[in-house]
Amino acid sequence: MYKPGIISTTSNILSSPIEYLTGVSAIRGDLLRKEINVFTFKDLLEYYPLRHIDKTKIDSISSLHSDADFTQVAGKLIDMQLIGEKRSRRLIAHLQDSSGIVELVWFQGIGWIEKILVLGHHYLVYGKPSFFMGKPQMAHPDIEHHHSQNATGKSYLEPIYPSTEKLKSKGLNGKVIGKLTQELLKKITEKDLPENLPLNVVEKYKLISRYDACRQIHFPASMQHFQSAVRRLKFEELFLAQLGIQLIKLNRQNTSKGFVFEKVGSVFNDFYNKYLPFELTNAQKNVLKEIRKDVGSGKQMNRLLQGDVGSGKTMVALLSMLLAVDNGFQCVLMAPTEILAQQHFQTISTLMKGLSVRVEILTGSSSTKQRKLVLKGCEEGDVSILIGTHAVIEEKVLFKKLGFAVVDEQHKFGVAQRAKLWKKSSLPPHILVMTATPIPRTLALTLYGDLDYSVIDELPPGRKPITTFHRNESARPKVMDFIKEQLSLGRQAYIIYPLIEESSKLDYENLMKGYEEVKSFFPEPKYWISMVHGKQTAEQKETNMQRFIKHDTHILIGTTVIEVGVNVPNASVMVIESAEKFGLSQLHQLRGRVGRGADKSYCILLTGPKVSKEARERMNIMVETNDGFKIAEKDLEIRGPGEMEGTRQSGTLLFKLANIVEDKSILEAARSSVAEILETDWELSSEKNIPLKLYVESQKVKTRWGKIA
Ligand code: ADP
Ligand code: MG
Repeated sequence: MYKPGIISTTSNILSSPIEYLTGVSAIRGDLLRKEINVFTFKDLLEYYPLRHIDKTKIDSISSLHSDADFTQVAGKLIDMQLIGEKRSRRLIAHLQDSSGIVELVWFQGIGWIEKILVLGHHYLVYGKPSFFMGKPQMAHPDIEHHHSQNATGKSYLEPIYPSTEKLKSKGLNGKVIGKLTQELLKKITEKDLPENLPLNVVEKYKLISRYDACRQIHFPASMQHFQSAVRRLKFEELFLAQLGIQLIKLNRQNTSKGFVFEKVGSVFNDFYNKYLPFELTNAQKNVLKEIRKDVGSGKQMNRLLQGDVGSGKTMVALLSMLLAVDNGFQCVLMAPTEILAQQHFQTISTLMKGLSVRVEILTGSSSTKQRKLVLKGCEEGDVSILIGTHAVIEEKVLFKKLGFAVVDEQHKFGVAQRAKLWKKSSLPPHILVMTATPIPRTLALTLYGDLDYSVIDELPPGRKPITTFHRNESARPKVMDFIKEQLSLGRQAYIIYPLIEESSKLDYENLMKGYEEVKSFFPEPKYWISMVHGKQTAEQKETNMQRFIKHDTHILIGTTVIEVGVNVPNASVMVIESAEKFGLSQLHQLRGRVGRGADKSYCILLTGPKVSKEARERMNIMVETNDGFKIAEKDLEIRGPGEMEGTRQSGTLLFKLANIVEDKSILEAARSSVAEILETDWELSSEKNIPLKLYVESQKVKTRWGKIA
């Protein structure tokens, strides 16, 4: 994936190794590389301060209070002593001004601090005050000699940089890093940092120049200057990222040929008129229209379909596949788990009964005989719809004329796996990627800006919202009684435990303990229980699931293996044990397993005795809303973009400065201004867009769609 970078690497001075800077010895250079990834001048320039201290603002010690933020005080060092042994060793000193005394404590980097402190001298101290027995204290404050010129009366904002214990032990604390940056800025001229945004954009959004921004973000003349610098650099980051994404999309649209599905034929029409079990929702109809337009355009479709759990994505996928079949093409539907593949196969082959469409399934557990039959059918073109797990992308699976591929529950598949699908055909098939983990728009713009994008934002009619409760574990007996009540009405229930990882013995024990407990509440032969978990073979899982689906069992106990897509409309209760251990999107997915029939459904979140504030917030959101998109927005807010599912490794959402949650409006501005530019000059050949062309060339933005997600 294309990675945004703020500053082009073409400039020589910026690519100099960090040791070329005065003050950086070989040892320090090594540490800077290892600890904070600073290899070059450019890296240091982009190592931004945490905050700035206003050197002119000195508070009196007596004015310190416990909820004060970082504060600067000045005074005389009146004593200092080393206390404790080994790990509890610490340096304690006292600083006095005319109003009082503050205690200063260091636990690490003591050697260095001890060396620079002299009793009786005056120091400027900067830190976050806390109170101990009514006395003010600062742990690990920044400290430096207080010269009279420190406080000349003119505003002087000193940057403080994040540092690490190892860096500090070599004297590279947050302030010293600032000194290095100052040194660096002396060497850099305007020529080294030319403007890289078109001037009309700079003017329209009232941005300061790139050169100014790079200086002012470190050593601002005022807080206002600092803010302008941050805004400019955030805009630049988001703008260049959008440029990359939108270019990839444009390129794909302009160059990638796709199969043309010209007609709506008899298979589609027969099914639609005779067998469609319900009226499509308007949202489903709209998405279908979008897809029809795409597959008729002669270009390859690469569409992401988002729809909340239960919004009916499968039917949209099926109808699209029938379009392909009508035009003589084969289709493949790929599901992330065996259970889900089985379920799709059953649903779809049942729906296709009256029609002459051959539907087959291929998974890891298909028998050799079955596999041979299916492979032959695919190669000869007899199989119209192949459903399966990633077994369908193995090299041995060949198609006569693959025209349409559906990937269900997109986040479980890697990019590489999907790419394999595309190779199975002379032209890449049209791709429909479906996800039930709604993604907020801002995130989608960044993460999937290169895909076509559809949303089903409406649930089929008649769904009753699921009522969600949050209860303490101690209420479990009552919850069991509630389940009993529901079972007596003919319903079924799920009880979910946190994921069993191979390594997590504890999770496994908890599940088993839970299973025994539930069994004691629900004794055989009146009640039957299925259990599904990750340590079972595919066959065991399948058997247990099938018993539940057929209503041979009343309760399904499981781990998150049942999370995705399982459809048992008769189930009306979802109990989630240790709910605090689940993320919001997972909770929402799990809850989506109920509320699929006409009956009123319930979700009960059980949490342990200790629930963090964040976990409590998650529970509250779940209780408050059933809307997957709202939940996704909240999730993004709480966790921040770096922690969103599927994005952790890719890093595509992580910018040096910008944060797609907080900087939504800058992202929108950047996105629309890139779109505007590309609309009239997608080759970036006009004079004013030359900086962008240079940037794109320097970054070698990949313009071949096949390389991306
Ligand atoms: P998801 O989007 O989560 O994959 P499904 O495709 O599994 O949802 O659909 C959920 C349930 O809703 C299925 O039982 C399906 O038959 C039903 N369904 C889908 N579309 C409609 C509709 N337009 N009207 C009524 N029921 C529908
Ligand atoms: Mg589904």
